[in-house]
Amino acid sequence: YISDALVKVRGEGFLDYRTRELPTWCPGCGYFGIAHALLQVVGALGLRNEEMCVVSGIGCAGRFPIFMKVYGFHTLHGRAVPISSGVKLASPELTVFAIGGDGDILGIGGGHLPHIARKNIDVTLFLFDNSIYGLTKGQSSPTTPMGNATGSHPRGNPDTPLNPVALALSYGASFVARGFAGDVDGMKSIMHQAINHKGFSFLHLVSPCVTFDKENYTWKRLSELVMPLPHTHATDDHEAALRLARDERIMTGVFYQDSLRPSYIDHLEAQRQG
Ligand code: SF4
Ligand code: MG
Repeated sequence: YISDALVKVRGEGFLDYRTRELPTWCPGCGYFGIAHALLQVVGALGLRNEEMCVVSGIGCAGRFPIFMKVYGFHTLHGRAVPISSGVKLASPELTVFAIGGDGDILGIGGGHLPHIARKNIDVTLFLFDNSIYGLTKGQSSPTTPMGNATGSHPRGNPDTPLNPVALALSYGASFVARGFAGDVDGMKSIMHQAINHKGFSFLHLVSPCVTFDKENYTWKRLSELVMPLPHTHATDDHEAALRLARDERIMTGVFYQDSLRPSYIDHLEAQRQG
């Protein structure tokens, strides 16, 4: 039972991307769906094990490199972004993934996000957002809604939450998308596009923490709130993307993509040649 989604992955022939480690995630955690989608996408893209590197910080999401048989780096709290940037610059031939939760990426490591975005470093960032600190047993995180009772704020969280998609757009990320852990096909589609995008890709993946969040990102509530972006949305329209990011409904799909902007490595290459 512990590795539901990953056992399924084995059945589909993706064992080669999996280490023998079983996840310690709680039964019913949304992270199984995210893992399942990612393993299928790298398989569909035909990426070989030695062509990928997964870098994570600390948290339930941070355990990810232990499960994937590729180059991996389980780093310090909040440091997946700068270390994945370094990996990409040192080894541009690698496909590099940065993985972390809402506390890790937006709280402890929040200061790194604007810089990978403005530099347009070719890393795909997977933000596993369950709006709570799961590993440390349910404290308010940067995405916990104001007023929700948590382990650290039993009378209600007094802080205004961050909006991850609006933040990434404002910081200048050249690819911004949102997925829902309960919609594996939808996640596969945005992951595929994000990995193929040349430049920094930001994936906001909303996912229930079934153990510590009984109010916000529950399976029931997310199933009601999540909806696809309007099919008329043009992904080169930055202002429309920001407006849709602020909508209280949780829209999924690609908010924004700038395919023409050179990546950081393209800039360095042009300078080297010039
Ligand atoms: Fe998932 Fe929450 Fe359990 Fe962590 S504590 S594994 S986020 S359900
Ligand atoms: Mg979290």
